[in-house]
Amino acid sequence: MSELISIEEGRRRVLEAVPRLGDEPVALDAALGRVLAEEVRSPIDVPPFDSSGMDGYAVVAGPAGELEVIGEARAGHPAEVGVTPGSAVRVSTGAVVPEGADAVVPIERTTAVKGRVRVAESEAGANIRRAGEDIPFNAVVLRSGTTLGPPELGVAASVGRAELRCGRKPRVAVLVTGDELTPPGQPLGPGGIYSSNGFALAAQVERAGGLLIGRTTVPDDRGGTRAAIGQALDVADVVVVSGGVSVGPHDHVKGALLELGVEERFWGVSLRPGKPTWFGTRGDTLAFGLPGNPVSAMVTFQLFARPALAALQGAAPEARRAGARLERAVPRNAQREQAIRVSLLESKNGLVARPARAQGSHVLTSMLGADALALIAPGDGEAAAGERVEVELL
Ligand code: AMP
Ligand code: MG
Repeated sequence: MSELISIEEGRRRVLEAVPRLGDEPVALDAALGRVLAEEVRSPIDVPPFDSSGMDGYAVVAGPAGELEVIGEARAGHPAEVGVTPGSAVRVSTGAVVPEGADAVVPIERTTAVKGRVRVAESEAGANIRRAGEDIPFNAVVLRSGTTLGPPELGVAASVGRAELRCGRKPRVAVLVTGDELTPPGQPLGPGGIYSSNGFALAAQVERAGGLLIGRTTVPDDRGGTRAAIGQALDVADVVVVSGGVSVGPHDHVKGALLELGVEERFWGVSLRPGKPTWFGTRGDTLAFGLPGNPVSAMVTFQLFARPALAALQGAAPEARRAGARLERAVPRNAQREQAIRVSLLESKNGLVARPARAQGSHVLTSMLGADALALIAPGDGEAAAGERVEVELL
């Protein structure tokens, strides 16, 4: 570990190395959370025709009066007759406004009398939704790079799109290293611990839009580490390894990555937790060596791997950052920036960041209920209560 780089610099080096994966058509009902890889224009007006905004009577706008009811228009069933002065067509919400009509009088303002109806006065255009009022023909409704949520999917459907071109999901292999690791569900042997990183990281991969293609536990030996990472590099777009990246005699990850032809882009970040984080590339494949401590693994995934997965899909890489005031003082680290787990509370002076009680990198429960990582600059003493800090939203 030569010189420690900043979080910003690490993130910059990751994003700089991100290739653009291809895109593919995705059916609308499989597209939630995917990143749009095209500009979507509307091939139609929405609504496609002038339609009634109310249940009532379509009329020629004018003063109150009694009109002959000559037909009906329901949603999906246009009227076969046109409206003239002296007549009205009964309409439902969403029905095509009949020829000749230029206003709809809501049913509450009418009284029906034997084939005729008394209507209140109306103004031209009243209760009519104009064709194209929501989306005019050819308007751009969604931009490339947008992450598709419920409203985006609804809007795409409203312009008639059954599929959208989306960035391919990056194929991600997660490897966890350590002879002590025991799968949950099995009894713990002497010195054993349950492997949490495999599950937490796999879930983070899925949340970030990655396609998990494997989760492997790797022993602390040189040959096994090399074989497992080698296989993963051959099939994945992104390889995420946890543990074994420090300088101990049983840490084989960095050596294996280098032997397998992965070029180091950085090793060591001025960050707590997460100092030994390693990142490199082999061709278009990205490889992350994350520290094994469970909090460090999750935090460094969030800070470095998650933006890579977003960028690989074509999403705008900006982190979701906000400002907040610390609820209580936090001791600074002399050299390294700290990413502390906080929950966020609203106050009349803006967001307040409440640090989790225990901040050790092995205290995984500090992630429970964490809304954000508050970034605490290095220095002497403490970051005081009330001090404004930047937070990265989880
Ligand atoms: P390492 O980075 O391999 O030195 O691991 C640092 C610490 O994290 C050690 O206490 C490991 O036992 C622990 N650790 C490593 N991998 C995992 C894992 N998959 N799940 C839980 N703890 C882990
Ligand atoms: Mg280890």
